[in-house]
Amino acid sequence: MKIFKFGGASVKDAEGVKNVLHVLNTVGHEDVLLVISAMGKTTNALEVVIKNYFDKSKELHASLQEVRKYHNQILLDLFEDEDHDVFFDVNAHFDDLEYFIRSNKSPNYSFVYDQVVSIGELVSTTIVSHYFNYSGLKNNWIDVRPLIKTDNNYRDAQVDWETTQKLISKGVKKKTLNITQGFLGSDENNFTTTLGREGSDYTAAIFAYCLGAESVTIWKDVPGVLNADPRYFENAVLLNQISYREAIELAFYGASVIHPKTLQPLQKKEIPLFVKSFINPTLAGTSVSKGADLEPHTPCFIVKKNQLLLSLSSIDFDFIMENHISEIFALFAKFKVKVNLIQNTAISFSVCIEDKYNNFEELRKVLAKKFKVSYNENVSLYTIRHFDENAAKVVETNKTILLRQISRETMQVITKE
Ligand code: ASP
Ligand code: MG
Repeated sequence: MKIFKFGGASVKDAEGVKNVLHVLNTVGHEDVLLVISAMGKTTNALEVVIKNYFDKSKELHASLQEVRKYHNQILLDLFEDEDHDVFFDVNAHFDDLEYFIRSNKSPNYSFVYDQVVSIGELVSTTIVSHYFNYSGLKNNWIDVRPLIKTDNNYRDAQVDWETTQKLISKGVKKKTLNITQGFLGSDENNFTTTLGREGSDYTAAIFAYCLGAESVTIWKDVPGVLNADPRYFENAVLLNQISYREAIELAFYGASVIHPKTLQPLQKKEIPLFVKSFINPTLAGTSVSKGADLEPHTPCFIVKKNQLLLSLSSIDFDFIMENHISEIFALFAKFKVKVNLIQNTAISFSVCIEDKYNNFEELRKVLAKKFKVSYNENVSLYTIRHFDENAAKVVETNKTILLRQISRETMQVITKE
């Protein structure tokens, strides 16, 4: 079986959905599992709904209506007959969501988040599955939630591999086209969980691992894995082949084409990963597989914007050593702050962090009880793998450098915008 993953950008409108069908007709769909994300920016739009819900904003209803309307337009563009079952099925998902919002009693933000955002994937796969049937491509729609079992760490749930493995091997039909949701799972009590933003790639890897799939293909609006993000760098080039190790490094430093958790399960079973263009599906794209000789011979640039450079120094001139550092890291974990770079001297400790969940203010207050805290907001972290002098120039020219760190393969620079 082959696993194909299509992200939000590939199904952002009716044309996109038709194009997914075109891709399948071009490359084959016999023994395939499709993993699909929410359409376009639906997850972001549902985050607004959640915020409005907790803020008790009067915009709540309007923000919900916006998500409904967006999907309804796609339905109208895809199906001529407004009595088609798909309208009923999609409405049923939205009605479930409205019922949840009306009746929910839980004050747990992350729990509510997962129950709400999951509608995005449920609706997108419902639409795609119906559209394929309507166009003559029979398929098997699967609710992913009973198959991927997780803990109840909502918004960043951890997979229970043993149970999931058993459920997936029974729950997926061979020799047919299966369609399921990315990003979702469920906990012990069958409440919906999510695997972290952009987690649909990871879902594809989970299925691949559990089914011992032949390969995974992530279909993108770029030709494959590039050596740089074309939004920020000129002359980006395609990397034809890279090793799992290189891909993990690139994803870890923030190359957004592949979700960082995706590589590990694939690498364990040596399942090849392809990153290809859904616009030109017959082009080779990038292949990620085993092999130490697959290091790119060109520098790779990764940029993470909107970072915080935090420096802690001891109040009493004490060294910042193991005891302090472990305490600091325990706090980072507690406040779910992601650490992207570390540097320390005898009495000070600097980290580049990402405040994904808006917890920095609280964290800062706790740290300030023990350390002198200073920080720069809104800095950028540039990482160059396989750097050389020219590559360093590309990143550093005309910028204020706050910190630079160099190891054998990798150079990292923090700049002020
Ligand atoms: N829809 C989810 C998100 O936008 C998952 C994904 O796209 O991979 O984060
Ligand atoms: Mg998405």
